[in-house]
Amino acid sequence: MKRSLRWFNGSGMLLILAGCQAGDPLPMETTPNPPPQPTYTVTRTEAEWRQQLTPEQYRVLRQAGTERPFGEVYEQFKQQGGGTYYCAGCGAELFSSQEKFDSHCGWPSFYDPSNARNVKTRDDFSLGQVRTEVLCAKCGGHLGHVFKGEGFDTPTDLRYCINGVALKFVPAKPSPARPASEP
Ligand code: FE
Repeated sequence: MKRSLRWFNGSGMLLILAGCQAGDPLPMETTPNPPPQPTYTVTRTEAEWRQQLTPEQYRVLRQAGTERPFGEVYEQFKQQGGGTYYCAGCGAELFSSQEKFDSHCGWPSFYDPSNARNVKTRDDFSLGQVRTEVLCAKCGGHLGHVFKGEGFDTPTDLRYCINGVALKFVPAKPSPARPASEP
């Protein structure tokens, strides 16, 4: 059955997601538990990656593609609460919601990786300019780019501009309520 979802985000803009099938998965994978952490470099054949990933994840992670800005995954990201972001390719921990901020750029933004061991960068000379590409250090998947010196009011003045489909979100578990008898 076709359905339309309408809601107002924080800025009051009416968002309409039409044509979604009930039960469709959201573009950014969300799971209740953290994935097992890879302890070594993850290598797979292109055929294996194609089998594991959705076509959009494959295009972004394995072909250095860029998802559409201000799309469904961006709205999903903005509405997520606390939690941790893992690589959708290999499960390595990448970012935390504690470093998430709204840069209004249309893609998920973080000012620092939660676990710097799992993020690496390299110069990207495509598009006729020098940019710094951000990759998963465990599987080499393309995540996005990092920009610095843009003047954002964050501790690092870095903007990790990340494709949401390259991430897997695990919401923080709510802390258990105190027993009523506790002072
Ligand atoms: Fe990875």
